[in-house]
Amino acid sequence: MPVLDLPLARAAHYRAAHRRAEAGLVGDLLKELGTRVLVVRGNRAAMAGQRVALFAPDDVAHLAVGTHLFLGEADGVAYLAAVLADTEAEPELDVDWAGLRTIDEPDLAQGLVVEAIALAQWHAVHTHCPRCGTRTEVTQGGWVRHCPADGTNQFPRTDPAVIMAITDADDRLLLARGTQWAPGRRSVLAGFVEPGEGLEQAVVRETMEEVDVVVDPDSVEYRGSQSWPLPASLMLGFRARASTTRLVRQEDEIAEADWFTRDEVATAVADGELGLPGRASIARSLIEEWYGGRLED
Ligand SMILES: [Zn+2]
Repeated sequence: MPVLDLPLARAAHYRAAHRRAEAGLVGDLLKELGTRVLVVRGNRAAMAGQRVALFAPDDVAHLAVGTHLFLGEADGVAYLAAVLADTEAEPELDVDWAGLRTIDEPDLAQGLVVEAIALAQWHAVHTHCPRCGTRTEVTQGGWVRHCPADGTNQFPRTDPAVIMAITDADDRLLLARGTQWAPGRRSVLAGFVEPGEGLEQAVVRETMEEVDVVVDPDSVEYRGSQSWPLPASLMLGFRARASTTRLVRQEDEIAEADWFTRDEVATAVADGELGLPGRASIARSLIEEWYGGRLED
């Protein structure tokens, strides 16, 4: 049973998938005064101050929209996302722009914005048919891309990745620094699930590949999941116990890796010597679950 309270896994709307096939759905909803529209530009959403901006359709009708997405419904209100066609041009809209690392909304807006950005990210890079290369057409309220040449449909993709809090027999936590990260920054290990592989196998394999540590497969325990659509990941969180402690880094991926006691983590964070992942990340939740409380940056 998942126990982590994950910031990007909150939602309070109904996706109403059965409505996606309605002919003219988006056009009809844009004519309804009660419809609300999020505006997405690249991987960011329009904000009204600290809140995700929810516009009436007329207020954003002047924007050059690439794709409209039907997000779903809540309390009788239909929600769309308007994904701007040009991420470079400055749209005529008096808003700020924020991404998923900083947006922290009540459940309804949070769920809508995660869905909107995730779907927009898929559209951004799946513009053509993978079979024949023809440019595909958006249908089904933004949930399908249809190839007019061979008739095939493409559906939104999300790529599973495992992320794992690995502990040793003394309950020390393994924290590593990726080669691209700033000095002092550390996190738990993570990696994509490979084709033909189960989640537990991915946890064991990635840990072996990155630091040469053996994980007991029977100890791998699911803790929760959340979308991380930058560009397309579903992060599946685990904890697991290592049966060896000697760390041999995969040098092209891991710059540093060490076992930490809780006191060492608390002291290093307080001294500013250890930078943990941001609060929106599942990594932060896994680390704080192991720690047994909130760690203040
Ligand atoms: Zn095709």
